[in-house]
Amino acid sequence: MSLKGKTAVITGSNSGIGLGVAHELARAGADVVINSFTDREEDHALAASIAKEHGVTVRYIQADMSKPDQCRALIEQAGACDILVNNAGIQHVSPIDEFPIEKWDAIIAINLSSAFHTTAVALPMMRKAGWGRVINIASAHGLTASPFKSAYIAAKHGVVGLSKTTALETAREPITCNAICPGYVLTPLVEAQIPDTAKKYDMSEEEVTQKVILERQPSKEFATVEQIGGTAVFLCSDAAAQITGTTISVDGGWTAL
Ligand code: NAD
Repeated sequence: MSLKGKTAVITGSNSGIGLGVAHELARAGADVVINSFTDREEDHALAASIAKEHGVTVRYIQADMSKPDQCRALIEQAGACDILVNNAGIQHVSPIDEFPIEKWDAIIAINLSSAFHTTAVALPMMRKAGWGRVINIASAHGLTASPFKSAYIAAKHGVVGLSKTTALETAREPITCNAICPGYVLTPLVEAQIPDTAKKYDMSEEEVTQKVILERQPSKEFATVEQIGGTAVFLCSDAAAQITGTTISVDGGWTAL
């Protein structure tokens, strides 16, 4: 399938899943806007390298997804937004009674509220263009819970709810909205949790990966960023035109348990 002529905006996409999604949408022919809160030479160089690899236009736009006005400005600056992928996300692990208030606020802002702000600006553009796809990167933790991840799980359940509402508000239009729910994908966000968990359980990092991190993933394998990107491309295809308001798990069987 070809996404030639479409513009995709992917929040939080200079790393991990967002970057994988950017590559797969570019491979399918879409022009792409990648984003993060930094403004380094390497961010712009990354955009240029994706453009070169896939022969599409790629721009890097700096915007901090914890700030409502910057979320909205990202979509406005993009100028077009046929495909919106709300992906930016952070994690913090701590019991509720010790959870730092500023971490709670940051996780809710970046992982949930940013998707509300970008969607609010993107929908009128999609309506004008007569086609649109909103793809929210939720999580298996948008459907199930684990201890010590209260803010993340509340935000991801919220993202699933926001996806359903967006789908209902656009149901009579050629616009869909769905949430992809990955299980564990080996990205910097997950890698960062391994050393501390190894210390906590007095295990090697390999043991932590198999016995703690992949414990709930029956396949015992990480999902890959390419698989999440491929799922996003599928959601942009004509075959997915009637798929809206739902979740697609890419989790090695986690939510079947
Ligand atoms: P990652 O840390 O590699 O990527 C996170 C991205 O978000 C980075 O590009 C980072 O720069 C960006 N970001 C962080 N704060 C930002 C801010 N304030 N403004 C703009 N951008 C910001 O992590 P990842 O694993 O690729 O996570 C991407 C998304 O996938 C997140 O929403 C995460 O919750 C979700 N997810 C990840 C996994 C997993 O196992 N890795 C599983 C399920 C869901």
